[in-house]
Amino acid sequence: MPTPSHTPETREFTHTIDGKGESSPASFDVINPALAEPFAKCPDATKDQLDRAVQAARKAFKSWSKLSFGERRDYLHKFSKAVEAKAEDIAVVLTKEQGKPLSNAQFELNVAAHELCAFADLEVKNETLRVDKTHRVEQIYHPMGVVGGIAPWNFPIVLGTHKIAQALYTGNTMVLKPSPYTPLATLLFVEASRDVLPPGVLNVVAGGNDLGRWMTEHPGIDRITFTGSTATGKKVMASAAESLKRVTLELGGNDPAIILDDADFDEMLPRVFMGAFMNCGQICMAVKRVFVPEQKYEPVVEAFTKMAQGLKVGDGFEPDVQMGPLQNKMQFEKVLDIIEDTRKHPAARITTGGHRLNRAGYFIAPTIVADIDDDTRLVREEQFGPVIPLLKYKSVDEAIERANNTEYGLCASVWTKDVNKGAEVAEQIQAGTVWVNHHVGSEADLPFGGFKQSGVGRELGVMGLHTFMESQVIKVPLQ
Ligand code: NAD
Repeated sequence: MPTPSHTPETREFTHTIDGKGESSPASFDVINPALAEPFAKCPDATKDQLDRAVQAARKAFKSWSKLSFGERRDYLHKFSKAVEAKAEDIAVVLTKEQGKPLSNAQFELNVAAHELCAFADLEVKNETLRVDKTHRVEQIYHPMGVVGGIAPWNFPIVLGTHKIAQALYTGNTMVLKPSPYTPLATLLFVEASRDVLPPGVLNVVAGGNDLGRWMTEHPGIDRITFTGSTATGKKVMASAAESLKRVTLELGGNDPAIILDDADFDEMLPRVFMGAFMNCGQICMAVKRVFVPEQKYEPVVEAFTKMAQGLKVGDGFEPDVQMGPLQNKMQFEKVLDIIEDTRKHPAARITTGGHRLNRAGYFIAPTIVADIDDDTRLVREEQFGPVIPLLKYKSVDEAIERANNTEYGLCASVWTKDVNKGAEVAEQIQAGTVWVNHHVGSEADLPFGGFKQSGVGRELGVMGLHTFMESQVIKVPLQ
């Protein structure tokens, strides 16, 4: 049955540079992953357009940086209201380009409107570090200048919002670049700011990976906030090193969920399952490995298999759909490749799924894998798709050691009725966030980021806001 997916977008999408809409001489196709067909054109920013966006941001910085936190908070509230007014339209475009169910796209817009305000509720305070007989010493914070934001394709709006809200609230101006796979919703989102923010404070330019590289090399950009893969993060850090730009890198993950044997299995298994399959498994902090005590292993395999078979997969505009397609062809082929590799291991059991769906688009059936070794691609790599390995363990110490045996360290979870025991296990896991009886989520006031190759630095929370500012110590003699 035709859905809104089948209606091409004929309107013109534009960058926002110095408060005005601009197209580009060239454009590229944006693909709807539910059909594997182009549905719209996106302008492809030139180097000159990036230069002008940076110049506009530098000019706007002079007055924006002088505003108080309270004044900038008021602007972010107005921006949030403008987003709310356009949220329905932006959500439809988000589902078309990203593939997620429309209800999830609407939720993402709601979260973004809320978070534009939530960061601005945090207080960045100057501090008196010392007063002694001779001196008073203050630590104060200054905005850095122009922030370059580079975003991925899995949560384009929420992740873009984190960058915008933190940069602008702390007195910086911004040039944002969405992923070339999902640029359009972000262009509309920033368009909503044109009537409410002073020109040049927030600019957005769409383009390919070269545009990202031009940003990391750009002498007019002072700080980069990057979210994406670990491989690209390394290139961003190397390139930013040339001018010693400040960088934070929010990168990939291979999150373990450790189920302890006293957990309330009926209550928690559906939550662990959704932690793995939400957004088609394409979340940096999705559950990517599930550790199950050996005496509970077979019932858990059975329960996961049943839940996977009951998941409604389809075009994000179909009613009641719970999981859409993989977002792009490259990711689709990567996940199919990991499934093929899994078949080469004779012990591994694919209890359900393990194939693409027999329809157009980048759909893969929800896949459960039991009895697979740790030393396999599915367990070692970030699968970023609807395939989850269930790993049997004998002792909790063994589970912790295996959970930590990865180059990643983004998030993790421990599931148990004994929350004190859960907290004890959590402390032993090498990850930036560990939940007890929960998995997936970020909150404006909690610092977020990864251990090891899951990232560099932290964003969110007051700690994150400080990374958008320079600390200055002022030492004044007492009179
Ligand atoms: P990606 O690294 O391919 O692309 C991310 C962005 O970087 C895109 O906008 C891309 O155009 C740009 N880019 C590519 N090459 C560049 C270069 N040389 N210089 C500068 N920019 C460049 O990532 P992706 O495939 O879009 O996203 C998926 C990855 O993102 C996963 O690994 C996922 O775990 C990670 N991710 C991490 C977080 C987090 O908060 N830690 C959140 C979401 C996604």
